[in-house]
Formats: sequence, C-alpha cells, structure tokens
Amino acid sequence: MSTPARLGVVGTGYVGLTTGACFAHLGHTVVCGDIDPRKVDLLNDGQIPIVEEGLEDVVNESRRAGRLSFVLGSQAAAADADIVFLCVPTPQGEDGSADLSYIEQAAREIGPVLKPGAVVVNKSTVPVGSTIAVEKVLQRDDVAVVSNPEFLREGTAVDDFLNPDRVVVGSSDLAGAQRVADLYSGIDTSVIITDPASAETIKYAANGFLAMKISFVNAVAAMCEHVGADVAAVVEGIGSDTRIGRRFLNPGPGWGGSCFPKDSRALVKIAEDHGYDFSMMRGVISVNDEQRRRMIDKIAKAVGRHQSDLSGVTVGVLGLTFKAGTDDLRESPSMAIIEELRTVGATVKAYDPTTSGELDPHQTMRLEGIELATGPLEVADGVDVLCVLTEWPEFAELDLRKVAETLGAGTTIVDTRNLLDPAEVKDLGLRYDGVGRR
Ligand code: NAD
Repeated sequence: MSTPARLGVVGTGYVGLTTGACFAHLGHTVVCGDIDPRKVDLLNDGQIPIVEEGLEDVVNESRRAGRLSFVLGSQAAAADADIVFLCVPTPQGEDGSADLSYIEQAAREIGPVLKPGAVVVNKSTVPVGSTIAVEKVLQRDDVAVVSNPEFLREGTAVDDFLNPDRVVVGSSDLAGAQRVADLYSGIDTSVIITDPASAETIKYAANGFLAMKISFVNAVAAMCEHVGADVAAVVEGIGSDTRIGRRFLNPGPGWGGSCFPKDSRALVKIAEDHGYDFSMMRGVISVNDEQRRRMIDKIAKAVGRHQSDLSGVTVGVLGLTFKAGTDDLRESPSMAIIEELRTVGATVKAYDPTTSGELDPHQTMRLEGIELATGPLEVADGVDVLCVLTEWPEFAELDLRKVAETLGAGTTIVDTRNLLDPAEVKDLGLRYDGVGRR
C-alpha cells in the first residue's frame, strides 16, 4: 500500500464509520468525529451504534491496533489530518434539492484548523458544484477539495467498501485527487480520476439508474398482473440477458432508504436547475409512488375494503427496515405504507428483527403508534391481514403451518417481497397475494 496517511472523518454514520474503520483496516491512522455525544460515547465504549455486517470486527481490530479513534466534533477529527473526509448528511431540502447545510457547516468548522496542504474530500452525496461550494466556505487557498462519492450499500457496507466495483475521484487539483486515489492502493479495483462535476454526476446517475431498474421491474410486475404473466419467469428471462443483468430486478413495495428517494429527486432538481427536464427520472419516481399505493390497495382488497377507509382493521406487518441487513428506517417503504394505513384508520402490529430488543431514541420516536411484537407469530395473532414488507431471510423460513393456525383459515398474506411460496400458503387454507405473481 501507499505510505500510511493521517485521516480525519467528519460524521460517523453508515458512510463515515465504514470509511473510517476500513481506511484504518487498510493501514491508515484515522480519527473520526461526530457531533452526537451518544454515538461518540458508544464507539469509545466498543459498541457499534448501527446494524452493519462485519463492521464491529473492523472497528475493534483497528482500535486495538491504535489506528482508529473517536472524538467529539469535526475540529478534533480534522486538526491533525492530511486528508479529511466529509461524511455528513445531505437530506432532501423542501424543493427536492439536496440540503447542503451540514456539508457547509462542517466545512465552516474545519476551515480554520486544517493543516497547510491538507485535502478535504466530499464523500457525502452532493450536487454538481459542491466541490466549488466547499472551497468557498473553507477559504483556504492551500487546501485542495476533492469529490470521492461513496457507493456502499447498507447491510454490506464493509464488503462494498473493501471490494468496490470502482473508486471515483474528481478534482480540479490533480495532485490532491492523486493523494485521495492513493489511499485506496491496498484495494484491487479501478480508480477513475475525473473532474469534480463528472464525479458528482456519476453518483447521482448511478443511484438514478438503479432506482430506474427497480421501478421498471415494478411496472412490469403490474403489467404481469393484468396480462396473467408471472413476474418470476419474466425476470429470469430478461435478467439472464447480460446486457440487462439480474441484479436490482426484484419486484417489491417500491424503493426507499436513505439514498434513492432523496438522490432521485435531487437528480431531477439538478437537471432542472441547469435547464434540462429529466422526464425519465420523474417517471421513475412516479412509478415508485404508484407502487406504494398499489400495495395499500392489495392490503385493503385482502380485507374487502377500499384503501380510503380501513377503520377497525388490524394489519400485521413483517419487516420495518427499508431492506434486510440494516436497522435503517429512513424512507423505508414499510414505514411509508404503515403511515398511510394508520392515516386511513388501520391499527398496525409489527415485528422486525432489529426492533425486537432495546430501542434507541430515534427508533422509539419513529415507531410511535405501532404495536411492536416480539416475533412473527405474535404479529399473526388477531390480525385481519398479514403483510411481508421487508425481505428478512427469517420471513422466508417461517413455519407457515403455525402462521396459518394463528391467522385462521381464509386470511390473506400480502407478500410484497415475493418471499413465500404461494402454493404452500394456499394449501394451508390461507389466501396469497404477491407482486406480479400469477
Ligand atoms: P448518517 O445520518 O448515518 O450519518 C451522518 C453523521 O454525521 C451523523 O452521525 C451526524 O451526527 C454527523 N454529523 C452531522 N453534522 C456533523 C458535524 N458538523 N460534525 C460532525 N459530525 C456531524 O448519514 P449516512 O447515511 O452515513 O450518509 C452520509 C452521506 O453519505 C449522505 O450524503 C448520503 O447520501 C451519502 N451516502 C450514504 C449511503 C448509505 O447507504 N447510507 C451510501 C452512499 C452515500
């Protein structure tokens, strides 16, 4: 690997903590800073505040080796660093654009303490022009700003970081870009060095394309229901074409999570701000909104009601997170569907593997009003309809006989992830409704 560098990481969320721990694993010395004292205390106590496969091992191994530490605030993380990664949130602003206030605030904080010749890296997902915006806030002619978007997926973040399909680095300062690229020399991958606008566009275009694949297959699934085709066969047929590829072609309740919703809207807004109407992306978003409504319609039909009024109906929900393998509830399709069900009067009883233990304050707030069960069978007890909303592997292995006994004959399972075997469900006296399945 290249000469080990001293790195600072600002923000210890899904991206920052993974970035810090993995760079330390690669031999660099990393100080991670966060403004949330609860997170910093937990991390200094050897605890990982998020659910992420393999992260605890990488964090603890690097802490023991003395290459990873956690501090309160961005300045303490940045002061001694050669290269500082900004990994703070870029949530959706009111008009659909990315809210840059966290990035700007972090840049404002670290500007005065950066070492001469340091490099600041935008790892957060930021709109085109943000590299220049950070340069302006820093007010440091001796500091290069580099865009290095992150492509990791929650649930497989460590593996994705250490085995990326590519690394993208963009800057108008070639020396700065090369220093950032060199940090990855311990990883066997290709590094694309380009200008900042292209690097920033690559990240949004990648997320937009993946969201498009899911919206496309959801639209195909809707069509399958109309024409009597089976989406599983259709996906196998189209996905085995190497020009299309099988991944991101699973029909479901619509895409969600902390990235696709805000990034797809930001992509439309960035294009609009620069005079281009990205109508295809607007279509991708509207198919996704429609998909949520279709799931609610399936639930309502399962209990013989209209989706505008579900008063007196109790809906059992399996899965709250936006996908399996993470505890992230942000923009989860499950949470959006539950909110709509509750708005039209339904009572919701739910189970998720990540909320069965002690809840942190954010989870408690988000889950208010939902009756939480300790397992799938407890959810099934006394509900009018049961819905699979997240693809946790344990739901695919449910003891369906016990579920059927608990639900009672004739009850419907709405399987928005196509996890269960429809024939098995029906043989047990239940009714089944999946997505695009015959
Ligand atoms: P997150 O909300 O999990 O973590 C952000 C952290 O930054 C929080 O812990 C917060 O307390 C901290 N923070 C905010 N302001 C700070 C400041 N001034 N100083 C120090 N700490 C501060 O967010 P995330 O999911 O890690 O996402 C971060 C960025 O990475 C976003 O732009 C996101 O779009 C992008 N991204 C996320 C993913 C993902 O899967 N989560 C993947 C790729 C890219």
